[in-house]
Amino acid sequence: MTTASYRGRFAPSPTGPLHAGSLVAALASWLDARTHGGVWLVRMEDVDTPRCVPGADEEILRQLAACGLISDEPVAWQSTRTSLYQQALDTLAGTDQAYPCACSRKDIEIALLARGLHRERHHAAVYPGTCRPERGGLNGRAARAWRFAVNPTEAPVDWTDRWLGPQTQDVAAEVGDFVLRRADGLWAYQLAVVVDDARQGITHVVRGQDLADNTARQVLLQRALGLPTPAYLHTPLVLGAHGEKLSKQNGAQALDLSEPLAALGRAAQALGLPAARGSTPAQALDAWTKAWRA
Ligand code: GLU
Repeated sequence: MTTASYRGRFAPSPTGPLHAGSLVAALASWLDARTHGGVWLVRMEDVDTPRCVPGADEEILRQLAACGLISDEPVAWQSTRTSLYQQALDTLAGTDQAYPCACSRKDIEIALLARGLHRERHHAAVYPGTCRPERGGLNGRAARAWRFAVNPTEAPVDWTDRWLGPQTQDVAAEVGDFVLRRADGLWAYQLAVVVDDARQGITHVVRGQDLADNTARQVLLQRALGLPTPAYLHTPLVLGAHGEKLSKQNGAQALDLSEPLAALGRAAQALGLPAARGSTPAQALDAWTKAWRA
Protein backbone atom coordinates (compact mmCIF):
# COMPACT_ATOMS: atom_id res chain seq x y z
CA MET A 1 0.00 0.00 0.00
CA THR A 2 1.34 3.41 -0.85
CA THR A 3 1.39 5.92 1.93
CA ALA A 4 -0.67 8.33 -0.17
CA SER A 5 -3.62 5.94 0.05
CA TYR A 6 -3.68 5.94 3.85
CA ARG A 7 -7.06 6.90 5.28
CA GLY A 8 -7.60 6.74 9.03
CA ARG A 9 -10.36 7.82 11.37
CA PHE A 10 -11.37 8.58 14.94
CA ALA A 11 -14.90 7.41 15.60
CA PRO A 12 -16.22 8.61 18.97
CA SER A 13 -19.70 7.81 20.23
CA PRO A 14 -21.25 11.09 21.40
CA THR A 15 -22.39 9.66 24.72
CA GLY A 16 -20.45 12.35 26.58
CA PRO A 17 -17.38 14.56 26.17
CA LEU A 18 -13.93 13.13 25.47
CA HIS A 19 -12.03 11.83 28.48
CA ALA A 20 -8.36 10.99 28.94
CA GLY A 21 -8.85 7.48 27.51
CA SER A 22 -10.57 8.55 24.33
CA LEU A 23 -7.97 11.24 23.67
CA VAL A 24 -5.30 8.50 23.50
CA ALA A 25 -7.14 6.85 20.59
CA ALA A 26 -7.75 10.22 18.93
CA LEU A 27 -4.08 11.21 19.22
CA ALA A 28 -2.75 7.83 18.08
CA SER A 29 -5.02 7.72 15.04
CA TRP A 30 -4.05 11.29 14.10
CA LEU A 31 -0.30 10.64 14.53
CA ASP A 32 -0.49 7.41 12.56
CA ALA A 33 -2.28 9.17 9.70
CA ARG A 34 0.18 12.07 9.66
CA THR A 35 3.22 9.78 9.83
CA HIS A 36 1.91 7.94 6.76
CA GLY A 37 1.13 11.18 4.93
CA GLY A 38 -2.51 10.13 5.09
CA VAL A 39 -5.97 11.55 5.62
CA TRP A 40 -7.58 11.62 9.09
CA LEU A 41 -11.36 11.66 9.49
CA VAL A 42 -13.72 12.11 12.42
CA ARG A 43 -16.91 10.06 12.36
CA MET A 44 -19.63 10.49 14.97
CA GLU A 45 -20.98 7.07 15.90
CA ASP A 46 -24.42 8.17 16.99
CA VAL A 47 -26.48 5.12 15.99
CA ASP A 48 -27.21 4.11 19.59
CA THR A 49 -29.48 7.11 19.97
CA PRO A 50 -30.74 6.38 23.53
CA ARG A 51 -27.14 6.56 24.76
CA CYS A 52 -26.24 9.75 22.88
CA VAL A 53 -26.15 12.97 24.85
CA PRO A 54 -27.44 16.08 23.04
CA GLY A 55 -24.57 18.43 22.26
CA ALA A 56 -21.85 15.87 23.07
CA ASP A 57 -20.88 15.67 19.39
CA GLU A 58 -20.20 19.42 19.19
CA GLU A 59 -18.38 19.31 22.51
CA ILE A 60 -16.12 16.48 21.28
CA LEU A 61 -15.32 18.43 18.11
CA ARG A 62 -14.47 21.51 20.21
CA GLN A 63 -12.22 19.41 22.46
CA LEU A 64 -10.45 17.87 19.46
CA ALA A 65 -10.00 21.29 17.85
CA ALA A 66 -8.51 22.69 21.06
CA CYS A 67 -5.94 19.88 20.82
CA GLY A 68 -5.20 20.69 17.17
CA LEU A 69 -6.99 17.56 15.92
CA ILE A 70 -9.25 18.56 13.03
CA SER A 71 -10.90 16.25 10.54
CA ASP A 72 -9.45 16.53 7.03
CA GLU A 73 -12.90 15.98 5.50
CA PRO A 74 -16.40 16.94 6.67
CA VAL A 75 -17.39 15.03 9.81
CA ALA A 76 -19.80 12.14 9.11
CA TRP A 77 -22.71 11.35 11.45
CA GLN A 78 -23.82 7.70 11.39
CA SER A 79 -27.41 8.66 12.11
CA THR A 80 -27.59 10.15 8.60
CA ARG A 81 -26.31 6.97 6.96
CA THR A 82 -28.89 4.36 7.97
CA SER A 83 -29.92 3.58 4.38
CA LEU A 84 -26.37 2.28 3.80
CA TYR A 85 -26.73 -0.08 6.78
CA GLN A 86 -30.09 -1.28 5.43
CA GLN A 87 -28.49 -1.96 2.03
CA ALA A 88 -25.74 -4.01 3.68
CA LEU A 89 -28.30 -5.98 5.70
CA ASP A 90 -30.32 -6.62 2.52
CA THR A 91 -27.15 -7.91 0.83
CA LEU A 92 -26.40 -10.24 3.72
CA ALA A 93 -30.00 -11.48 3.95
CA GLY A 94 -30.08 -12.01 0.18
CA THR A 95 -27.02 -14.26 0.41
CA ASP A 96 -28.29 -16.20 3.47
CA GLN A 97 -25.68 -14.61 5.70
CA ALA A 98 -28.21 -12.86 7.95
CA TYR A 99 -31.49 -14.03 9.43
CA PRO A 100 -34.29 -12.62 11.57
CA CYS A 101 -34.37 -13.66 15.21
CA ALA A 102 -37.33 -13.78 17.59
CA CYS A 103 -35.41 -14.53 20.79
CA SER A 104 -35.50 -12.30 23.83
CA ARG A 105 -32.61 -12.33 26.28
CA LYS A 106 -34.67 -14.63 28.50
CA ASP A 107 -35.30 -17.06 25.59
CA ILE A 108 -31.55 -17.23 24.99
CA GLU A 109 -30.82 -17.94 28.68
CA ILE A 110 -33.43 -20.71 28.74
CA ALA A 111 -32.11 -22.30 25.53
CA LEU A 112 -28.56 -22.26 26.90
CA LEU A 113 -29.63 -23.72 30.24
CA ALA A 114 -31.56 -26.46 28.45
CA ARG A 115 -28.27 -27.45 26.84
CA GLY A 116 -26.55 -27.43 30.20
CA LEU A 117 -24.60 -24.31 29.32
CA HIS A 118 -24.29 -21.75 32.06
CA ARG A 119 -23.27 -18.30 31.09
CA GLU A 120 -20.30 -17.06 33.01
CA ARG A 121 -20.98 -13.82 34.77
CA HIS A 122 -19.97 -10.73 32.76
CA HIS A 123 -19.68 -12.76 29.57
CA ALA A 124 -22.23 -12.16 26.87
CA ALA A 125 -24.16 -15.29 25.99
CA VAL A 126 -23.14 -17.14 22.83
CA TYR A 127 -26.35 -17.19 20.81
CA PRO A 128 -27.56 -20.83 20.72
CA GLY A 129 -28.75 -20.58 17.11
CA THR A 130 -32.46 -21.10 17.90
CA CYS A 131 -33.68 -19.03 14.91
CA ARG A 132 -31.09 -20.22 12.38
CA PRO A 133 -32.87 -21.02 9.12
CA GLU A 134 -31.77 -24.67 9.15
CA ARG A 135 -33.44 -25.06 12.55
CA GLY A 136 -36.78 -23.81 11.30
CA GLY A 137 -36.20 -20.07 11.47
CA LEU A 138 -38.75 -17.99 13.34
CA ASN A 139 -41.19 -20.90 13.70
CA GLY A 140 -44.11 -18.49 13.52
CA ARG A 141 -42.73 -16.11 16.16
CA ALA A 142 -42.37 -12.39 15.43
CA ALA A 143 -38.94 -11.18 14.29
CA ARG A 144 -37.19 -8.90 16.76
CA ALA A 145 -33.58 -8.56 15.65
CA TRP A 146 -31.39 -9.53 12.71
CA ARG A 147 -28.33 -11.69 13.26
CA PHE A 148 -25.25 -12.47 11.21
CA ALA A 149 -25.04 -16.18 10.39
CA VAL A 150 -21.51 -17.12 11.42
CA ASN A 151 -20.39 -20.11 9.40
CA PRO A 152 -19.83 -22.78 12.10
CA THR A 153 -17.10 -24.43 10.02
CA GLU A 154 -15.23 -21.15 9.48
CA ALA A 155 -11.63 -21.28 10.74
CA PRO A 156 -10.78 -18.90 13.61
CA VAL A 157 -10.08 -15.36 12.39
CA ASP A 158 -6.39 -14.50 12.62
CA TRP A 159 -5.03 -10.99 12.28
CA THR A 160 -1.91 -9.16 13.29
CA ASP A 161 -2.60 -6.12 15.38
CA ARG A 162 0.04 -3.45 14.81
CA TRP A 163 0.33 -2.86 18.56
CA LEU A 164 -0.80 -6.10 20.20
CA GLY A 165 0.76 -8.53 17.72
CA PRO A 166 -0.85 -11.77 16.47
CA GLN A 167 -4.50 -12.22 17.50
CA THR A 168 -7.04 -14.95 16.94
CA GLN A 169 -10.72 -15.46 17.71
CA ASP A 170 -13.10 -18.31 16.95
CA VAL A 171 -16.23 -16.22 16.45
CA ALA A 172 -18.60 -19.20 16.10
CA ALA A 173 -17.48 -20.69 19.43
CA GLU A 174 -16.75 -17.51 21.40
CA VAL A 175 -19.39 -15.07 20.16
CA GLY A 176 -21.92 -16.88 18.00
CA ASP A 177 -24.35 -15.27 15.57
CA PHE A 178 -24.14 -11.62 16.54
CA VAL A 179 -26.76 -8.90 16.16
CA LEU A 180 -26.77 -6.60 13.12
CA ARG A 181 -30.04 -4.83 13.78
CA ARG A 182 -31.32 -4.71 17.34
CA ALA A 183 -34.76 -5.59 18.63
CA ASP A 184 -35.38 -1.85 19.19
CA GLY A 185 -34.72 -1.26 15.48
CA LEU A 186 -31.35 0.41 16.00
CA TRP A 187 -28.32 -0.56 13.94
CA ALA A 188 -25.65 -2.51 15.76
CA TYR A 189 -22.17 -1.02 16.04
CA GLN A 190 -20.60 -4.00 14.20
CA LEU A 191 -22.56 -3.45 11.01
CA ALA A 192 -22.39 0.36 11.02
CA VAL A 193 -18.63 0.44 11.63
CA VAL A 194 -17.87 -2.08 8.86
CA VAL A 195 -20.08 -0.30 6.32
CA ASP A 196 -18.64 3.12 7.16
CA ASP A 197 -15.00 2.06 7.29
CA ALA A 198 -15.44 0.63 3.78
CA ARG A 199 -17.54 3.50 2.40
CA GLN A 200 -15.05 6.04 3.72
CA GLY A 201 -12.15 4.06 2.27
CA ILE A 202 -10.51 3.56 5.68
CA THR A 203 -7.24 1.66 5.28
CA HIS A 204 -6.01 1.86 8.89
CA VAL A 205 -8.13 1.58 12.03
CA VAL A 206 -6.48 2.92 15.20
CA ARG A 207 -8.67 2.73 18.31
CA GLY A 208 -8.68 1.77 22.00
CA GLN A 209 -7.79 -1.70 23.17
CA ASP A 210 -11.23 -2.18 24.70
CA LEU A 211 -12.50 -2.54 21.13
CA ALA A 212 -9.94 -5.16 20.06
CA ASP A 213 -12.24 -8.13 20.53
CA ASN A 214 -14.73 -6.71 18.02
CA THR A 215 -12.16 -7.02 15.24
CA ALA A 216 -12.80 -10.67 14.33
CA ARG A 217 -16.55 -10.02 13.97
CA GLN A 218 -15.80 -7.05 11.76
CA VAL A 219 -13.43 -9.11 9.60
CA LEU A 220 -16.16 -11.74 9.10
CA LEU A 221 -18.63 -9.03 8.07
CA GLN A 222 -16.09 -7.53 5.66
CA ARG A 223 -15.59 -10.93 4.05
CA ALA A 224 -19.34 -11.55 3.83
CA LEU A 225 -19.91 -8.18 2.16
CA GLY A 226 -16.87 -8.47 -0.13
CA LEU A 227 -15.17 -5.48 1.53
CA PRO A 228 -11.44 -5.00 2.21
CA THR A 229 -10.06 -5.49 5.73
CA PRO A 230 -8.12 -2.47 7.02
CA ALA A 231 -4.97 -2.75 9.16
CA TYR A 232 -5.75 -2.59 12.90
CA LEU A 233 -3.90 -1.01 15.78
CA HIS A 234 -5.35 -1.02 19.30
CA THR A 235 -3.89 1.52 21.72
CA PRO A 236 -3.20 0.80 25.40
CA LEU A 237 -5.98 1.67 27.82
CA VAL A 238 -5.55 4.49 30.26
CA LEU A 239 -6.51 3.39 33.76
CA GLY A 240 -7.93 5.63 36.44
CA ALA A 241 -6.21 6.34 39.74
CA HIS A 242 -7.66 3.10 41.17
CA GLY A 243 -6.80 0.92 38.19
CA GLU A 244 -10.32 1.10 36.75
CA LYS A 245 -10.99 1.42 33.04
CA LEU A 246 -11.80 5.01 32.13
CA SER A 247 -15.10 5.29 30.36
CA LYS A 248 -17.98 7.69 30.13
CA GLN A 249 -20.13 5.04 31.77
CA ASN A 250 -18.08 5.04 34.96
CA GLY A 251 -17.99 8.78 35.06
CA ALA A 252 -14.50 9.47 33.69
CA GLN A 253 -13.84 13.17 33.82
CA ALA A 254 -14.22 15.23 30.69
CA LEU A 255 -10.95 16.64 29.37
CA ASP A 256 -10.07 20.03 30.71
CA LEU A 257 -10.07 22.29 27.67
CA SER A 258 -8.19 25.05 29.44
CA GLU A 259 -5.00 22.94 29.29
CA PRO A 260 -5.03 21.11 25.95
CA LEU A 261 -1.26 20.72 25.92
CA ALA A 262 -1.25 19.02 29.32
CA ALA A 263 -4.07 16.68 28.27
CA LEU A 264 -2.23 15.83 25.05
CA GLY A 265 0.96 15.23 27.04
CA ARG A 266 -0.76 12.64 29.23
CA ALA A 267 -2.21 10.90 26.15
CA ALA A 268 1.23 10.89 24.51
CA GLN A 269 2.76 9.40 27.64
CA ALA A 270 0.25 6.52 27.52
CA LEU A 271 1.53 5.85 23.99
CA GLY A 272 5.15 5.79 25.13
CA LEU A 273 5.96 9.12 23.49
CA PRO A 274 8.36 11.66 24.99
CA ALA A 275 7.24 14.67 27.01
CA ALA A 276 5.64 17.46 25.01
CA ARG A 277 8.00 19.87 23.31
CA GLY A 278 6.89 23.34 22.28
CA SER A 279 4.32 25.59 23.79
CA THR A 280 1.32 24.90 21.57
CA PRO A 281 -0.57 21.71 20.67
CA ALA A 282 0.55 22.15 17.04
CA GLN A 283 4.24 22.20 18.02
CA ALA A 284 3.83 19.16 20.29
CA LEU A 285 1.93 17.25 17.61
CA ASP A 286 4.69 17.99 15.14
CA ALA A 287 7.35 16.60 17.51
CA TRP A 288 5.30 13.47 18.29
CA THR A 289 4.68 12.82 14.60
CA LYS A 290 8.46 12.45 14.21
CA ALA A 291 8.63 10.14 17.25
CA TRP A 292 5.66 7.93 16.27
CA ARG A 293 6.97 4.57 15.12
CA ALA A 294 4.01 2.24 15.15
N1 GLU B 1 -17.62 4.44 18.54
C1 GLU B 1 -16.75 3.53 19.21
C2 GLU B 1 -16.47 4.03 20.60
O1 GLU B 1 -16.53 5.23 20.85
C3 GLU B 1 -15.42 3.35 18.51
C4 GLU B 1 -15.57 2.57 17.25
C5 GLU B 1 -14.30 2.25 16.51
O2 GLU B 1 -13.32 2.98 16.61
O3 GLU B 1 -14.32 1.25 15.79
O4 GLU B 1 -16.17 3.25 21.48
